[in-house]
Amino acid sequence: MSASKGVALVTGAGRGIGRAIALRLARDGYSLALNDTSPNRAAVAAVQSEIAQITYSGRPAKAVGVPADVTDEGQVQEMVRRTVEELGAVDVMVANAGILKARPSLVETSLADFDATFAVNVRGVFLCYKYAAQQMIAQHRQRGGAPASTGCSIIGAASVTSKQAWAGLSAYSASKWAVRGLTQASALELAPYGIRVNAYAPGLVDTKMVERIAVESNREHSRYIAEESRNIPLKRLGTPDDVANLVAFLVSDKASYITGAFDTSRGTYKQPPQN
Ligand code: NAD
Repeated sequence: MSASKGVALVTGAGRGIGRAIALRLARDGYSLALNDTSPNRAAVAAVQSEIAQITYSGRPAKAVGVPADVTDEGQVQEMVRRTVEELGAVDVMVANAGILKARPSLVETSLADFDATFAVNVRGVFLCYKYAAQQMIAQHRQRGGAPASTGCSIIGAASVTSKQAWAGLSAYSASKWAVRGLTQASALELAPYGIRVNAYAPGLVDTKMVERIAVESNREHSRYIAEESRNIPLKRLGTPDDVANLVAFLVSDKASYITGAFDTSRGTYKQPPQN
């Protein structure tokens, strides 16, 4: 068996969903390029140490840190270049990094917050898709051009709010609708190269992002979780591992005929208000 299934680059991998995805893909046999912003180097180093404890096929899993601000084109190009230099390829790109600013109403949302949200959630995802795809197309050509030979996959972070409106999340919601469009159009364009493009679109997942929402809604974290769980069909929030399990499936051979899919975990799909 080969020592590695390929190389996966995960953005926002220092914590939350990105960290869970990175650990899961390392357990599944991928070498990992771990991205987060430079100030989060320590968090990335901690994930790198956790990955160093994982063995696959009798060898320790490999991980390198590739710090970059995904809103910056030059830094994203450099992140992809360094991944290829250190690990040899980019077979999987998980454009996970995203932000949620405070949750004011539309009329209170500042232009600065709107622009910052779009910078990370849309421009960042666009840049990650673009430069990963360029690298994957080059790999496709090097490997002889047969679609089935690439096995490359791009995954974006959308959200349940990219399908279903939530009051107080206009800028965030609009940014995630954009991820949906970017994902589905990219899936059409990249299919001839055997590159599949999908997105995950969970409801509430218990991470720092949700902790902040709880604080902003003046509720204790535990009270927030309990109250929100009542609106969820499976009666609990999602966990980062729930999303990592989906990503592990989407990048695997078992999903080799799935592209342009936009998955909302039904278990965490908040029910619309009941009349
Ligand atoms: P999180 O805030 O816990 O972690 C996000 C990570 O992204 C952080 O480590 C942060 O430093 C990094 N990041 C932020 N801006 C960056 C930038 N410019 N460049 C590089 N890295 C950057 O968030 P999370 O809950 O783990 O969410 C991960 C993704 O999933 C986001 O795109 C989010 O919108 C999406 N999502 C989250 C939820 C949820 O309920 N937590 C639900 C649906 C979708």
